[in-house]
Amino acid sequence: MGKRIRILAMGGTIAGSAADSAATTGYQAGAVGVAELLAAVPQVRAVAEVSGEQLATIDSKDITAAVQLQMVRRVRELLLAADVDGIVITHGTDTLEESAYLLDLVHFADKPVVITGAMRPSTALSADGPLNLLDAVRVAADDKARDRGVLVVLNNAIHSAQAVTKLATMAVETFQSPNGGAIGAVNDGEVVFYHNSQLHHLPQALSISEKLTSQQELPYVPILYGHSDDDGRLVKVTVDQGGKGIVYAGMGNGSIPAQAEAELAAAVKQGVLVIRASSSALGMVAKAEESYEQAGFVASGCLNPRKARLLLQVALSVGASAAAVKNWLKI
Ligand code: ASP
Repeated sequence: MGKRIRILAMGGTIAGSAADSAATTGYQAGAVGVAELLAAVPQVRAVAEVSGEQLATIDSKDITAAVQLQMVRRVRELLLAADVDGIVITHGTDTLEESAYLLDLVHFADKPVVITGAMRPSTALSADGPLNLLDAVRVAADDKARDRGVLVVLNNAIHSAQAVTKLATMAVETFQSPNGGAIGAVNDGEVVFYHNSQLHHLPQALSISEKLTSQQELPYVPILYGHSDDDGRLVKVTVDQGGKGIVYAGMGNGSIPAQAEAELAAAVKQGVLVIRASSSALGMVAKAEESYEQAGFVASGCLNPRKARLLLQVALSVGASAAAVKNWLKI
């Protein structure tokens, strides 16, 4: 019996439809259903027993916490289901890395979860979606993909959810892992892994995922983008509006202009969790100024601001302390 792979379709450009096959912008994302997506790639049937379900039909820039939690809920059910060997999610690329990271945080099984998407709509000349979907199924059905957490597969490359980011605005090779590179590839159908995954499951992933499944929303956490002459007024606005977490996308190694730092330090004193991340695409955020440590800011490590935001949202959902978040980031 072949591997039983469940496809969860979320929408995005992979399911996009344009009036003109030469167009790669100006299309309607999420217009094509999962049955049609699968019908375009009959080769998947030779790789695995696939079945599909439509979870959403959105342009992923519009994903909400409610939809993210619905995805967590469904993936949790499928991770626990005895009749499913692997999961493939088709997703818009704009927030693909966020969904991948969120699912990786609460991944608790050795079952592969693979997320894919496309940069060109399904109706385009040289659409990249069909091969990406076939490759994603190949990876999900491969025993070598077990126990590697959530994987992102596009453009023949395999990436860890924690490390990958959409680096380019329009290129088909947009997904890159700037610090360590791709961990594997699908070479003409053959799945190979060059490196181990950067696993990022939370220690209590099973119970945390269960807690999240009972929620309809996630706590509000903004990302404040650091820039010259930042006087920290948006920090104040966030705290005044009851925000309990802030990600500050600082400069370089998470540097924060003095006035904004003072506001963030005052926020921590009022019980707000602050993660110090970076607007730089490469490298990590580690210990910097002593004052940041004293203020209680948590350095984001290798997480980019959008992933750090999800980590904070999960932390706030389960009442985790800054010390617990620091520990999570060491995983
Ligand atoms: N805006 C689209 C989305 O994220 C882009 C894509 O899928 O590539 O749904």
